[in-house]
Formats: sequence, structure tokens, C-alpha cells
Amino acid sequence: MKRHRVIAIDGPAGSGKSSTAKHLAEKIGFIYMDTGAMYRSVALAAVKKGIDTNDQDAVGKIADLIEIDMIPDDDGYKFLLNKEDVSMAIREPLIDRLSSLVSSYKVVREKMVDLQRRFALKGDVVAEGRDMGTVVFPHADLKIFLVADLETRAIRRCRQMENSGIQISLDEQVASLSSRDLFDSSRTHSPLKKADDAVEIDTTDMSLNGQVEKVFQLALDKLGLE
Ligand code: C5P
Repeated sequence: MKRHRVIAIDGPAGSGKSSTAKHLAEKIGFIYMDTGAMYRSVALAAVKKGIDTNDQDAVGKIADLIEIDMIPDDDGYKFLLNKEDVSMAIREPLIDRLSSLVSSYKVVREKMVDLQRRFALKGDVVAEGRDMGTVVFPHADLKIFLVADLETRAIRRCRQMENSGIQISLDEQVASLSSRDLFDSSRTHSPLKKADDAVEIDTTDMSLNGQVEKVFQLALDKLGLE
């Protein structure tokens, strides 16, 4: 059976993963996989069901029951949770915090990792998240680790949220990102970490086109794309 190719892009929130991964996938005809949106969906589903997000077993059951789908549309991608379009709802500040909490649960991670690996059986993928290169796809064909300074990441995140109609001050965003970074990189299960064989790219002073082009060139070299 042909093994599909995987480009793994990891890094902290606001480092440029989503936009880079999305544009790169489109450019090279790979499937785009946003694994952060999967953890966000688990958190949202728990909130919708009125479940205490500190209850690991209850959240684990939710992760088992939900149906998650990502489908391309005119604006990029639409994220469906149990067939409902939750593309906007999963970007709310409350879900930023709760997705970080629920993604620290082993039971949730096991389910999502299984889902992510099954998703990658559909075709060649550009997968973005925190543990793509370290845990989910340790044999990825190309591993990228994106970083950027905190203020730049917070400014980008504020802009993204404004575009989704959510207002949040820069100070609040800086505080939210730094606590999420700390939590994500110090948790026991699959912490945010650069894989030893990942290429690190600092996007602080890079444009989106520049980021996509840089990763595209690496993909050309590593995967021999045409
Ligand atoms: O990337 P995004 O900000 O949408 O991810 C939301 C949260 O999901 C992160 O703060 C992180 O805690 C979690 N996450 C994770 N592993 C991934 C992707 C996201 O733990 N592969």
C-alpha cells in the first residue's frame, strides 16, 4: 500500500502555523489538517453539554462520541462538530483556554491522535499542531517548527480574532498566549516541543508569502515535489 506523505508543522499559538499550513497545502495539493481545531471541538462539545472540563473521564467520553469534520469552502475551511458549523465558535477566548486544558488529558490525546492518523490515510497531508513531528507523525517527510516573538504572535492573534468579530485587547492576548504556551510546553503528555529533526523557522519578521515560500522550498528539496 502506498504510504502517504506528511509535512508536520508545529509551534506555539500565533507562530503562523495555520496560515502557512493552509496555503502550503493548497499550493502543493495536499490535505490540510488543523489539529488545534480538533482539541477546540472537544472543549466546545464539553461546554455545550454542560460538562465540567476538569472531569477528565467525562471529557474523555465526549471526545469518544463527537463527530469532527473539516471541509473546504470558499473562505478556506469549515469545521463541523456533529455536523454543525462551529468554525467561529471554536475561536472564542473561552475555548482558547479550555482547549489547552482538555488537550492535556491523556484520554483525550489518545483519541485525537488516533483520529489524526486515520485522517492522514486519506492522502498526502500538511498537519499542524503541537506534537505532529514528535508524537503523531514521528516519521513525517518534513518537520517544521515555527516560532515568533510573543508580541508579534499576540498582534497576529488579535487581528485574526477581529476578523471573526471577537474583540480582545493586546494585553489580554499577550497574557492568554503566554499562559497557554507555558501550560502547553510543561504538560506531561505530548508537550509542545521541537522535534530533534525539525527545521526551526522564526517568522517574527516574515510575511505570510515568505513563510509559505520558505516551507515550500524545503518541501521541494525534501519530498522532491514537482
Ligand atoms: O493551534 P490552536 O491554538 O488552535 O490549538 C488550541 C490548543 O489545542 C492549544 O493551546 C494546545 O493546547 C492544543 N493542541 C495540542 N496539540 C495539538 C494541537 C493543539 O495540544 N496537536
